[in-house]
Amino acid sequence: MALVTGAGSGIGRANSVLMAARGAAVIVNDRNATSADETVALIRRAGGAALACVADVSDAASVEQAFAAAQRGVGAVDILVNNAGIPSGMPAFEDIDEAAIDRMLNVTVKGAMLCTRNVLPAMKARRRGKIINTSSITAFGSHARGSVYAAAKGAVISLTRAWAREFAEWNIHVNAVAPGRVRTAMAAALSANPAYEEEVRRRVPLGRRAEPDEIAAVVAFLASSDADYMTGQVLSPNGGEIM
Ligand code: NAD
Repeated sequence: MALVTGAGSGIGRANSVLMAARGAAVIVNDRNATSADETVALIRRAGGAALACVADVSDAASVEQAFAAAQRGVGAVDILVNNAGIPSGMPAFEDIDEAAIDRMLNVTVKGAMLCTRNVLPAMKARRRGKIINTSSITAFGSHARGSVYAAAKGAVISLTRAWAREFAEWNIHVNAVAPGRVRTAMAAALSANPAYEEEVRRRVPLGRRAEPDEIAAVVAFLASSDADYMTGQVLSPNGGEIM
């Protein structure tokens, strides 16, 4: 059983569709019920098994209630993909107010903690699990702006490494994916800027952004037995922007 957070759109939807195509039953989490249902419908139309699970990952009570109900329906989670995220908008640091700081850290960092905490006891009891966290190349200093997003994504890498050590004893593997620029709703505002595509051509050796499927392929690898000797690692599909 796989659970993907923020799976109503973009990379999370692509992750869910690919894992379902490879035989996993998928719990499709999103805070937006309509988009979660759309992902579930896509998977079922292709012959896969999926269940919607509406919860705000930054709200402990919401996660507890929705995850428990979903797992009662379809069984314990073996693969958790902490993918839910919100756009940074790339503001200058002094333009980021306290509410925006709280929102970013709550969804990105606390959200991954709450979801992991929820599925961990069953993974430990079964002595197996794969947790894939979603960072970003911004964690490596790829952009001049959006420092709160960058800090949150850096914290995701720290969590990945700390959890990898802490949970290894239970055969639970924890890795992260740190995508470069991906063509999703999150980056839609950037795409509207004509200078942006030019910047992509200039800064990304492969000369284009990734499609969500290209990130999903890396996540699916980390979720599979092919990655059984990997833990605490960060894979960064980024077209060569960071080497
Ligand atoms: P997206 O906006 O297409 O999808 C994000 C999904 O997360 C949405 O469906 C949204 O409703 C959901 N979500 C947001 N907050 C939530 C919450 N509190 N609880 C539950 N669901 C919530 O974005 P995307 O581009 O597919 O991004 C997915 C992940 O990849 C994010 O963590 C993002 O930071 C990361 N990422 C994206 C890019 C990129 O260029 N698009 C690059 C690097 C990393």
